[in-house]
Amino acid sequence: MDSCDKTIASVMPEAARCVIEALEAAGHEAWIVGGWVRDALRGAASHDVDVTTSAPWPVTTRVLRAAGMAVHETGTAHGTVTAVCAGETVEVTTYRVETGYSDHRHPDEVHFVQDVEQDLARRDLTINAMAWHPTRGLLDPFGGRNDLVDGIVRTVGNPAVRFGEDALRMLRTVRFAVRFGFAMERQTHKALLDKLYLLREVAPERMGQEVDAIVQSGRAGTALLAYPEVMCAAIPELAAARGFDQRSVYHVYDVYEHIAHVCNACEAFTAGQATAPLRWAALLHDVAKPATYSEDVDGHGHFFDHPRQGAHMARAILRRMAIPSEIADATCLLIRWHDEPMPATTPAVRRLLRRFSRACPGREVPLAFNLFDLRRADAVSKCPSAACWAHQMDAYTGILRSEIERGPVFGTRQLAVSGSDIMRALNIAPGPAVGMQMEVLLQVVMAGEVPNERDELLAWLGAMP
Ligand code: ATP
Ligand code: MG
Repeated sequence: MDSCDKTIASVMPEAARCVIEALEAAGHEAWIVGGWVRDALRGAASHDVDVTTSAPWPVTTRVLRAAGMAVHETGTAHGTVTAVCAGETVEVTTYRVETGYSDHRHPDEVHFVQDVEQDLARRDLTINAMAWHPTRGLLDPFGGRNDLVDGIVRTVGNPAVRFGEDALRMLRTVRFAVRFGFAMERQTHKALLDKLYLLREVAPERMGQEVDAIVQSGRAGTALLAYPEVMCAAIPELAAARGFDQRSVYHVYDVYEHIAHVCNACEAFTAGQATAPLRWAALLHDVAKPATYSEDVDGHGHFFDHPRQGAHMARAILRRMAIPSEIADATCLLIRWHDEPMPATTPAVRRLLRRFSRACPGREVPLAFNLFDLRRADAVSKCPSAACWAHQMDAYTGILRSEIERGPVFGTRQLAVSGSDIMRALNIAPGPAVGMQMEVLLQVVMAGEVPNERDELLAWLGAMP
């Protein structure tokens, strides 16, 4: 054990310790493996911990249950069970190797083995192929620790073979490279470009998981610029944007580069904390630009209707990738309204909230902030003279903040009068007329003509012709 092992031991989750101790007390071997080891060596927190063991999964289940843990048979076809210990979960998988891969995505066969090094050899990247044990320390047969120090992503074994086995690994390689800001080892990069056509074989929802992970790393802009071939293979709709000249005095970048800069600017404006819909919207906001291009008599480019058509295209892309509908709905909404002319006035902000509350009820306020961030990022990614439009977003944001303080009014439910107030004031019976009067009141309140106060509203109603 070196000092590094002592540091790792100090952050080791208790549940993993219990699992390893129980399995080894029963005569088996067990290690922490994969992402947790990588992240611990980076000094970073990890969201889950995986244990790999020589014990066959039915034995793992029996041993861990006998040690008092709850065990769920979550993926026994691949030798995986999930143990719960002191409220923490640990995935425990039997050492295995995979063979076949005739379809470039699924192993034809999974074999359980007795040697942990064989299990490490089936893993994708050297930095993901390390094991660690509280007393035996680090097991690193492929130089993952050096690659971590040097900032390099490299496949375990021949990259062309490894990408040929499972094409998804190409996207994973890009994901880890951009997430950690690592360089891609030369042979790995070459093989990745050679084998990119195999990505077509990967199930779209599996691809969606990895693309989503790239997007949620906040580094989609980097991925677009550093690995354009890969990103366009993953989302073919983006390919037409590459090199697409906007023929506009407002744009110094082609459509694709502009998209990448918008992704980066969204992170800059949110200190790297952009929400999932904002991140997806940044990536797809101009996806319909090539399809909607037209030129005027002076040779200037225009993209009429690209926000609406972009929202439709984004819907199809996100559905194909099985992105959850609450993220997809919000993403499409942001894309639809990202370029809409909008005066920086209170009524305009209220109209926006109303529109957003209809599409994504209860999420209108955070989504309005997202829209302003998207528009701000869009403005600074065009040309220097367009960057001043970003300031207008400060005005919108300021108005929205005042609205929140005041209690925003964008639906009849927020009016300071109820349906029965209206029936009494106007002496009318229940029916559609009540709703219509509420709607009239909402319009005048949203327009700022009458304050949202009960007496003022009733007085206004009473004075109506
Ligand atoms: P994250 O923090 O993103 O979860 P991770 O390393 O835990 O990182 P997972 O996708 O959860 O990534 O996979 C767990 C481990 O399984 C990886 O570290 C890697 O060793 C292995 N692995 C996952 N997918 C593949 C694959 N397609 N081919 C080979 N090995 C893989
Ligand atoms: Mg993981």
